[in-house]
Amino acid sequence: MNELIPPTPASSNESGSAARILVVDDEPSVADVCSEYLGSEGYEVTVAVSGEEAVRVIPQLRPDVILTDINLPGVSGLEVVKFAKQLDADACVIVVTGYASTTSAVEALRQGAYEYVTKPFDLEAVHKIVKSGIKNRRLKEQNRQILVELREKNEQLSRHEVELRERVRVATQQLRTLYDVNQEISANLELVHRVELITARAALDVHARSAVLYLRREGTDDYRAASTNGRSLHHQGADSVDFRHGEGWFGACVASERSLRWDPSAGVAPVLPGVMPAAAESLAAIPLVSEGSVVGLLVASDREGGFHHDEENYLTLFASQAAIAIRNSQLYEHTKSLDRLKSEFVAVVSHEIRTPLTSIKGAIELLGDAQYFQNNDQQNKLLTIAHANTERLLVLIGDILDFSKLESASLPMHLERQRIEPVVQQAAQNIRTLLADKQLRLELADSHDVPDLMIDADRIGQVVTNLLSNAVKFSPAGGRIDVTVERSDEFVKVSIKDQGEGIATHNLSRLFQKFSQVDTTATRRAGGTGLGLVICKGIVEQHGGTIHVETTVGVGSSFYFLLPLTPIAGESARAIQTDAARTDASSTGSTRSSA
Ligand code: ADP
Repeated sequence: MNELIPPTPASSNESGSAARILVVDDEPSVADVCSEYLGSEGYEVTVAVSGEEAVRVIPQLRPDVILTDINLPGVSGLEVVKFAKQLDADACVIVVTGYASTTSAVEALRQGAYEYVTKPFDLEAVHKIVKSGIKNRRLKEQNRQILVELREKNEQLSRHEVELRERVRVATQQLRTLYDVNQEISANLELVHRVELITARAALDVHARSAVLYLRREGTDDYRAASTNGRSLHHQGADSVDFRHGEGWFGACVASERSLRWDPSAGVAPVLPGVMPAAAESLAAIPLVSEGSVVGLLVASDREGGFHHDEENYLTLFASQAAIAIRNSQLYEHTKSLDRLKSEFVAVVSHEIRTPLTSIKGAIELLGDAQYFQNNDQQNKLLTIAHANTERLLVLIGDILDFSKLESASLPMHLERQRIEPVVQQAAQNIRTLLADKQLRLELADSHDVPDLMIDADRIGQVVTNLLSNAVKFSPAGGRIDVTVERSDEFVKVSIKDQGEGIATHNLSRLFQKFSQVDTTATRRAGGTGLGLVICKGIVEQHGGTIHVETTVGVGSSFYFLLPLTPIAGESARAIQTDAARTDASSTGSTRSSA
């Protein structure tokens, strides 16, 4: 601050002109001497011969220094001090007192006088005091100026602070909104759902009357409206193109990969292609860019007062998230359609293999029939092997077919309200030769209060047969298998318990995964496709149920499934696609795993 003020001569005042001094004395000789001396030092001196005169001239003169006698008839020097100080708190008043009248000098100082000199005085000493008085006054003025500037700076600072706070508040709110939107968008991977949500939120968040989301057709330069909010889609045909990359206002926007705004003051806005109504007043168009390529364009339109920097900024942030979400959905849909194709292919191939295989099996059976053919032992042995292998192939193809149908959610279910016990009994019947081969005992406990369930008897029979064959496969010869059907509050529980070798905890997570077999000697001996449990899980889930295992190595395993008393339609089919092998394992003495 001081550096800005050029050094001022002692005889000059703040504005650089000669400092003004008012000499107040009723003794003309004193006043003249002072006036002459100070005048010769470069000051502008005014003389007042009485207190009254001083009080009269001070307001106009605004002296830099007042040199006043204290003993004045009428208005005293003390009153001059008071008056000057009232008028200007920084007034520099030097009082001249008579010899030995220090009391009045002290009183003058108390009233704000700068200094006092006693008569008779030395003019040079007076000049020194005058100089320091002027300096003092100058400093005070500078201080005041600094204070004023400080106050201004402070005000500026608080204004900035308020602005900053507001910006932080807006940014925080935007981030919170973006977070919420992101959560909402992430909740569903379906592309149609996402684009609708993105369009609706874009319009809502920037208070636009409508929004349109154009998607780029993959691998082309063609864009087409995929969703609107506040308008309706209006396409000429299933393959019509609304605009092309680089062409027109919208095409230029995507080609530049930068947002564009159209202000109503710029005239009639470009018409929105592919939607009705097409006319708009104001526009904010934001390209949707993911991994360096444009996947679409988000256009908000018709906002009261037009779109500003804030809305454009928000939409740009919003669009960067939306682009990723859209790209993920597109990839998901792509994978899904590939998966569907694969499942369809597998289903067709399996079906095509099964038909000739069934006839081969029939032919082998016929060849082995002693009624028609006389075979020697060697030939019969070969026919038995061929028959067993054909059967294995048929089971494998059946499993693959079921699995591919389950994966594409096209395994038909014929649900009917019926008792489950006969289904379980029939499954037990199905494996009786297997039981006999290994001298196994099957105990089917009596069940009580089991209500009728909505089930597909064939499919539930398939599950029980599968679990029973596994129990047989992994049981030691001469062992026992317990089957129970019980009712709990909301479920019916069917369990198949064996005395086999059990399954180690580290293998549990792989149990319900496709083509997953636990690598043990028993497994290798027993053979199988590794699809049985996955199919069981799929069928049970199609019924709205769940499948679990409790197992202890060296003691045995208990596989059980729960079917709801009231089935939850449709829910299970979806679970199979997204989560075919969700497992968890916890230790409770024995090991338990849920699929
Ligand atoms: P697979 O048709 O090969 O038997 P599954 O899906 O039915 O296929 O079974 C997968 C694996 O789970 C089996 O290979 C075996 O390792 C294990 N497993 C299934 N049931 C039992 C059981 N009761 N006791 C021990 N291990 C079993």
